[in-house]
Amino acid sequence: MPKIAPEPETGHNGAAVEIALSGAPFDLIILGAGAGGMATALVAALEGLKPLVIERTDQVGGTAATSAGTIWIPGNRQSADAGWYDDPKNAARYLDQLIGDGDRGGLRTAYLATGPVMVDYLRQKSEVRFNPSGKHPDYHHMDGAAVHGRTLYPERFDGRRLGPDFWRVRPPIPEFLIFGGMMAGKEDVPRLIHRFRSMGNFLHAGGLLLRYLKDRLTYSRGTRLVMGNALVARLFHSLRQNGVPVLFEGEVQDLIRRDDTVAGVVVRVAGELRRIEARHGVVVATGGYGHHAGLRQALMPNPTPMHTMASPGNTGGGLELGMRNGGQVDARANAPGGFWVPVSVTRRADGTSGLFPHLLLDRAKPGLIAVNGKGERFVNEASSYHDFVQGMYASHTRTKTIPAYLLCEADFIRKYGLGHIHPGTRRLQRFSDSGYIVVAPSIEALATQLGIDGQALRATVERYNRLAREGKDFDFGKGDTELNRFNGDPEAANPCLAPIEKGPFVALEVWPAEIATSAGLRTDADARVLDAQEKPVDGLYAVGNDMASVMAGTYPGPGTTLGPALTFGFRAAMHAAARAKAVVPEPPSAMSLPTIEAARLAA
Ligand SMILES: Cc1cc2nc3c(=O)[nH]c(=O)nc-3n(C[C@H](O)[C@H](O)[C@H](O)COP(=O)(O)OP(=O)(O)OC[C@H]3O[C@@H](n4cnc5c(N)ncnc54)[C@H](O)[C@@H]3O)c2cc1C
Repeated sequence: MPKIAPEPETGHNGAAVEIALSGAPFDLIILGAGAGGMATALVAALEGLKPLVIERTDQVGGTAATSAGTIWIPGNRQSADAGWYDDPKNAARYLDQLIGDGDRGGLRTAYLATGPVMVDYLRQKSEVRFNPSGKHPDYHHMDGAAVHGRTLYPERFDGRRLGPDFWRVRPPIPEFLIFGGMMAGKEDVPRLIHRFRSMGNFLHAGGLLLRYLKDRLTYSRGTRLVMGNALVARLFHSLRQNGVPVLFEGEVQDLIRRDDTVAGVVVRVAGELRRIEARHGVVVATGGYGHHAGLRQALMPNPTPMHTMASPGNTGGGLELGMRNGGQVDARANAPGGFWVPVSVTRRADGTSGLFPHLLLDRAKPGLIAVNGKGERFVNEASSYHDFVQGMYASHTRTKTIPAYLLCEADFIRKYGLGHIHPGTRRLQRFSDSGYIVVAPSIEALATQLGIDGQALRATVERYNRLAREGKDFDFGKGDTELNRFNGDPEAANPCLAPIEKGPFVALEVWPAEIATSAGLRTDADARVLDAQEKPVDGLYAVGNDMASVMAGTYPGPGTTLGPALTFGFRAAMHAAARAKAVVPEPPSAMSLPTIEAARLAA
């Protein structure tokens, strides 16, 4: 990636290593500069500890940099202030039903109690700020589920504030960038699509474009950062403001143990092995095992998903270090091992391939169905991305559904887009030539190209069309829930259902992938890694995807991986700080709710 001048020093440079390590001895070493790791380091610094972050790549952000940045924080103050009050007791009821199995170790209670405190704390003491999303329904229609007020999104950030360090922020995936480098947030997308509909939209779209063109005179991409990129840039900027060093391109080999306490790491950096001690512990925050073939096979369903949305550096290092030092990965408690998303395989301009995650823009819209290898529908297409893939796996036990196909009219794409193809696209030739989509004049011809029985596919489409005309999907309930309709088209006669009858017809292959891994190291409520006897491994914490998800393999609503990553990062740092101040008697007990309330008052 081109970098802005002046050329920054990289971790390979011996001087940069010495600068990063000049603050030794450190109190807390955090492995991984993603959302969980940077949040932990930031809170540690704000609580008076001397943290060091070790990142194995040359950029911060990990998968979080490519994410939407939404966090699921029931009972947050920001939403209540904006008029969307959410009683956390409802969320507790919702999670009890969804997850069941009791609240093992009190993690759920700790999460619900600490999430709002963490958001307020970061807002008051750092540059990490969130705004209320307003309406953003939970993913399951159950008692206690919310439609408004549970989610927050990161406040936009001006990347120019990072100066020559801007390039250190991992960019979003190319599939999410406009003109090869411009970011658009959720609130920008409808205004860009409907730019000619009103003067306000036109000016907004024009303003974004002008800012982007100006940015490109100096920077390798747009500096108006939104979503996950804004979150990680805000975290990174706050680390810089608090003087927290990040040691880049450091490859941790092992943990240092002293008297059964984790007391530092051995790291290879700039070609040398270094021992770096940490007085109050080590936090693994390496983003899970998305790129670890063996762990994927062991912890994910069969057939193992071939694709991952994980950042390239996330190779399971934290889990391996944890397991080598007494930590346990409980696969069963966190089945199915991933937070799923259906992806299509894109062909990028440079000849490489990429992945487009079908999160919310196309599946729920009226006039799209998903079919398996027999040409049958198998799932509510408008369900959450996680449930869609769960539906793929369930159907695959009966008939081939990996890959599955999204099917619609060419006119649908003009209106709503399909995966990587933007709304407004009329000429599909380039996408069919590259193999991204299959286009055919009739349903039968489409079926032939997909290797599906033509009569079966025709029967599926006809049945769906009858239901669409009746306005009710009796087969799979597409359009039945708030979530379905939220992601549908509010301006259409029916937000989620419309007949598919006018050719040409289009099909797009989708595969299972994960936006995050969910199986990880078992911890207590302060993110301390537990051994086989359920005792904390002293001085070892796991946060983010390295920690077994508090959601135990379920996906309650938008932001249920980053919410816990920040919240348990906060708790880990608070715990380490309390231990350092000897506030918590040894052996340290879980941070009590009064302590959290004290932090809330202090913030
Ligand atoms: C398209 C997309 C959208 C998403 N949207 C959302 C959303 O809106 N809300 C939500 O909750 N979740 C979302 N997610 C999931 C979310 O991004 C991840 O769950 C989250 O980033 C995990 O945070 P983390 O800190 O554990 O890992 P990461 O953010 O991936 O950071 C891990 C860091 O550790 C580094 N690292 C890896 N191994 C080592 C090692 N051995 N030593 C040192 N460093 C190491 C990596 O290079 C990386 O920088 C989305 C994901 C995708 C792909």
